[in-house]
Amino acid sequence: MQDKIQMVDLKSQYHKIKSEIDQALMVAVEEGAYINGPQVKQFAENLRNYTKSNTVITCANGTDALQIAMMALDFQPGDEVIVPAFTYIATVEVIALLGLKPVFIDVKDDTFELDCTQIEALITEKTVAIVPVHLFGQCSNMEMILAEAKKFNIAVIEDTAQAIGAKYTYVDGTTAYAGTIGTVGTTSFFPSKNLGCFGDGGAILTQDIILGNKINMIANHGQEKKYHHQVVGVNSRLDTVQAAILDVKLKYLDSYSEARQKVAQKYDSHLGGINELILPFRASYSTHVFNQYTCRVLNGKRDDLKNYLAEKGIPTMIYYPIPVHLQEAYKTYGHKQGDFPVSEQLCREVISLPIHTEMQEDVQQYIIDNIISFFH
Ligand SMILES: *Cc1c(COP(=O)(O)O)cnc(C)c1O
Repeated sequence: MQDKIQMVDLKSQYHKIKSEIDQALMVAVEEGAYINGPQVKQFAENLRNYTKSNTVITCANGTDALQIAMMALDFQPGDEVIVPAFTYIATVEVIALLGLKPVFIDVKDDTFELDCTQIEALITEKTVAIVPVHLFGQCSNMEMILAEAKKFNIAVIEDTAQAIGAKYTYVDGTTAYAGTIGTVGTTSFFPSKNLGCFGDGGAILTQDIILGNKINMIANHGQEKKYHHQVVGVNSRLDTVQAAILDVKLKYLDSYSEARQKVAQKYDSHLGGINELILPFRASYSTHVFNQYTCRVLNGKRDDLKNYLAEKGIPTMIYYPIPVHLQEAYKTYGHKQGDFPVSEQLCREVISLPIHTEMQEDVQQYIIDNIISFFH
């Protein structure tokens, strides 16, 4: 059994819908419209319908999606963007690349989202945006973030790379999909994300049609009409074959989320009694689509647990081992150890357990049994 345990099992997922995927691929290959084929528009339209979004623009990956969104919002060099210190590097990278200044904010130790109560103290007259990251598959507290954003007239860019399909619940009980709540939402179709293709892919969602047009233009060399370039853009496209795959998989996204939630539920019910293990917190204002099942291990035992499980053939991952403000490349912003204590603590404590749509009961039981035996 040990050699079949994986963090994520993409091959088995493919095999379940192989005939549909193969058919879609064959059609795309036979048609020969490898760039901007009809599948690209079709998938964008279907994702738009699924997320109930006004506009969906596909692009080459989730990092580009963030960059293009920020380019479209017309930020100027030196403008400040508030971003969590505990996130995947891409969120911060694009801010730096555009000559903007990342202003780090600490996160909450339960939901791992940025700590809304710290926003106000970080606002300056150069602040132009805040980037909530729906980390591991659960929405940030969007209403609190939007209230602050409104107060200071700044944009909200939702990094939805890990949370496509998650639903946010407003105080009044209505719901909206992750990525459709802020000024703009970005997502990734990297293979291991909840809606993954067989390579790179990404998308940008917005409710603002004018902004949507601008995003579309920027992703396409800054042109609306071929060879008429109105703004400086980039070349960022979702391949036709990837769109064909995604269009098949989008139909299964809800069942994929449910499969992940079922795995999470089983971990919850078996690991709940371990004092030194803090299981993922469920926010009242969001569903959790569990791109990762990320626990905290107390009393400095995280690495021991990781090694113990590795010896039993159980892979785990540390998302993320170093907070962004302490990364070599981001030292220029002048931060030191202790500046964002919760982010730093999480980097020492977090461990992500195997979770995916094809998890088998006996495999998960084996993982659970070994975690329990480690703590005994
Ligand atoms: C994966 C990811 C990205 C980047 O997506 P790519 O498609 O790999 O470029 C951005 N932000 C977060 C939080 C991610 O997990």
